[in-house]
Amino acid sequence: MTAIDISDPRGLIVCPHCDALWTARKPAFGEVAACGRCHVVLATPRRRAGMQIISMAVASLILFVGATFFPFLTIEVSGLSNAASVLDVALAFSEGLLGVLVIVTAALILVVPALRTALLLYVLLPLVFDHPPARHAKRAFRLAEQLKPWSMAEIFALGCAVALIKVADLAQVMFGPAFWMFALLVILVLLQQRYLCSWSVWDALNTPTQ
Ligand SMILES: [Zn+2]
Repeated sequence: MTAIDISDPRGLIVCPHCDALWTARKPAFGEVAACGRCHVVLATPRRRAGMQIISMAVASLILFVGATFFPFLTIEVSGLSNAASVLDVALAFSEGLLGVLVIVTAALILVVPALRTALLLYVLLPLVFDHPPARHAKRAFRLAEQLKPWSMAEIFALGCAVALIKVADLAQVMFGPAFWMFALLVILVLLQQRYLCSWSVWDALNTPTQ
């Protein structure tokens, strides 16, 4: 075991999975820095990752709007059909305790992921185009990182699948455009998380540009 020099915290990296402390050397593009104990990936800078993340973020923001307002499902029971968007459902249950639950759910599946995407765009856009970081960029990126566990779009997709299997016996269910937008959104959000190397972003935010 080697002694770790903690006089310069910028040269250190903590594994978010097992809390092991390592001295960090900036990985080259395409290299992967992994935790020596639990092998979780700590940093993996990719060339042009910024531009890819930005295009995915813009696409997700458009899809968020569509997924909220377009019809999500059409349910047909004995000739009567009813189409509802996520917004319709949220507004239909807007009273009482159930209303609170619906608002919290809508926040976790749509507002938090959309806010996180907007924060990432705010932080990454200047960096990718070689401008100095935006005002409060560090605070914005820290907030985006803190929101990560609360961004639950994929859990909603899973919940929908379970609910649909149950309803399918009682009524004919048809997916609206918002459903497909949402499915695409879940994939985009996951890809975005995979491409984003937090360590590289912090490194760029801490390196003064001239
Ligand atoms: Zn580890």
